[in-house]
Amino acid sequence: TNQPFITFHDGNSIPQVGLGVWQTPNDGAAPAVSAALAAGYRHVDTAAVYENEEGVGEGIRSSGVARKDIFLTTKLWNNDQGFDSTLKAFDASLKRLGTDYVDLYLIHWPSPHRGLFVDTWKAFVRLKEEGRARSIGVSNFYPDHLTKIIGETGVVPVINQIELHPDFQQKEHRAFHEKHQIVTQSWSPLGQGKILDNSVIGGIAKRYGKTPAQVIIRWHIDNGLVVIPKSVTPSRIEENFKVFDFALSAEDMAEIAKLDSASARIGPDPMTAS
Ligand code: NAD
Repeated sequence: TNQPFITFHDGNSIPQVGLGVWQTPNDGAAPAVSAALAAGYRHVDTAAVYENEEGVGEGIRSSGVARKDIFLTTKLWNNDQGFDSTLKAFDASLKRLGTDYVDLYLIHWPSPHRGLFVDTWKAFVRLKEEGRARSIGVSNFYPDHLTKIIGETGVVPVINQIELHPDFQQKEHRAFHEKHQIVTQSWSPLGQGKILDNSVIGGIAKRYGKTPAQVIIRWHIDNGLVVIPKSVTPSRIEENFKVFDFALSAEDMAEIAKLDSASARIGPDPMTAS
């Protein structure tokens, strides 16, 4: 396919569209991952806490697509933060995934009350040096948290995966990331399905002959974001990947920009999340 990639500051690159597999048990994750790889996806986003790393690994192996052609992300869960416990949790993730490296390892949440995300990041730097995590990044970090880990280690995360959808656009975070060459990745890119029936999105979709989901995914792409829509339904998995044959006009981008609302957050606030 002609899918776009984004290059990180460490030289590696990530397919801009990936499959998210949150809230999908092992026996649903395996067929979803296989369906996505058959549709052309080469990027899968899981996490230890999703309890489906085995299913993801199985889906990859049964797809027939070579491991080296797949960009695989997993995440460290909060209660494993700390230097030694991170190294241990990483080994356990690799074992469940059935692989000897991941393309991207993320600290799932800063969990500031634990006071451990700097030590955790130092373990991530070690894993990157060992080559077992090809790239290292974070998720749900505020600019203050990013400044802290960069200041303590000199190592800049390649990516920050944050909640981001057309009604919650995170413009300040994105500006900060850009200044530091950190790629922004959108989680819950479809607002968990809640904004699919928005009338502005619907009107634009009709004009392009596309579905609302495709317009929203294209909006992320045209904003330079990495996007990981979730579905376990093969037809939707395919639909969400048919987004490389059109681009939104400047006028339509401007229309969607107006949907931004500070109160549209769906998930927890990373300052106080577990
Ligand atoms: P999402 O925004 O991707 O929405 C998924 C839902 O939208 C589906 O369950 C389905 O109901 C609907 N949908 C998907 N495609 C559709 C289509 N073509 N037509 C109609 N409906 C469609 O929500 P998400 O799962 O919360 O987020 C995506 C991924 O982001 C997750 O699977 C996970 O990998 C990641 N994530 C990360 C964090 C984090 O803290 N880092 C948090 C939440 C999610």
